[in-house]
Amino acid sequence: MTFIRGLRCRECAREYPAKALYVCEYCFGSLEVDYDYAAISRKLSRQLIESRPPNIWRYKELLPIDGEPSVGFHTGMTPFFKAHNLGRALGVKELYIKDDSVCHPTLSFKDRVVSVALSRAKELGFETVACASTGNLANSVSALSAKAGFKRTIFIPADLEAAKIIGSLVYAPRLMAVEGNYDEVNRLCAEIGTHYKWAFVNINIRPYYAEGSKTYGFEVAEQMGWKAPQHIVVPAASGSLLVKIWKGFKEFYKLGFLEEPTCRLYAAQAFGCHPIVTAIEEGSDIIKPVKPKTIAKSLAIGNPADGYYAADAIRETGGWGAAVTDEEIVDGIKLLAQTEGIFTETAGGVTVAAAKKLIEQKKIPRDESIVVCVTGQGLKTQEAVQDHVGKPIRIKPNLSSFQEHVKDN
Ligand SMILES: *Cc1c(COP(=O)(O)O)cnc(C)c1O
Ligand SMILES: [Zn+2]
Repeated sequence: MTFIRGLRCRECAREYPAKALYVCEYCFGSLEVDYDYAAISRKLSRQLIESRPPNIWRYKELLPIDGEPSVGFHTGMTPFFKAHNLGRALGVKELYIKDDSVCHPTLSFKDRVVSVALSRAKELGFETVACASTGNLANSVSALSAKAGFKRTIFIPADLEAAKIIGSLVYAPRLMAVEGNYDEVNRLCAEIGTHYKWAFVNINIRPYYAEGSKTYGFEVAEQMGWKAPQHIVVPAASGSLLVKIWKGFKEFYKLGFLEEPTCRLYAAQAFGCHPIVTAIEEGSDIIKPVKPKTIAKSLAIGNPADGYYAADAIRETGGWGAAVTDEEIVDGIKLLAQTEGIFTETAGGVTVAAAKKLIEQKKIPRDESIVVCVTGQGLKTQEAVQDHVGKPIRIKPNLSSFQEHVKDN
């Protein structure tokens, strides 16, 4: 039983069949999955969702597959909790963390989008999957395609963190390290895609892939007790996660699972790559591409595919954006670790530092509910912090050596 009606152009609303298509032939707008919400509404309820296992497929009627999913049965339903210590440090009353640093199986929110993309790729008859990645996507496609039984070719910028390279290689994909930045990798993949019948998860089957990010928003709403927060700070690379969190809240409202959400969206980007934040600050409709230079490599997309839609959603909700320096990113990682005991990667450092900045600038009020989106794992980006966390105290294996070094208790 399928609830997919087809694909629809985000610009001119022309309709297409639900195949491996991603751009409108008429206006070059990007395509989006269209659902039969009336039929979904007859079937899906909060009770039915709550009765299902704790993974992304508990929302399967709102995800773009025709039949049953084939992978991702342990992905999603990551921790969500009130972060008292971080809230106190930032001087706010009600701060929550949604923690995808422990998302299964590869420790970032990309496992959500990839589980959906591969389940759809199988339905569309693909045997090989591929992707252009800033790192986490490579890990996730490598792992989940091993599980789902696809052939795979993964493209990454050559200068990625060691843990992200090893964390792909261990699953034995064909891993292509491209001498260029992500935007160049992406352009190359689009060209390769015209020569090979592969499912590039974030290119030719992007409309399906992107829908997986809605589950991050669905879970936030469900875990808050079926309501949306008043403010949510989201790390932005292509801008897709931000757009889809908002779409997720709106779909839950449409189905009567939530009151009308008044949630304001905030984009968090690194100063060395902040085209979406620039568009917000300038009140512009145009995303000017930049050349990324930041330690937040997972967010280093200079020409963001969904940048326009992200800026639009932020404007629609009355939100804003913040860009933070590499130094602030490292401080953000350390602050989260030392207050909440969570080691996030550079993208999480961006989000925490951006939340701090937005609160200090009074863009986010101190007495309303705020969700901070932690999307990746710190063990993958150790290079960023290794010179900023001190060293262990080295001693001989005897009591006097210990006491020589420890003067207090
Ligand atoms: C890819 C990524 C993002 C941003 O994703 P977009 O949907 O492209 O904006 C955020 N955090 C982490 C850790 C990522 O890997
Ligand atoms: Zn169109």
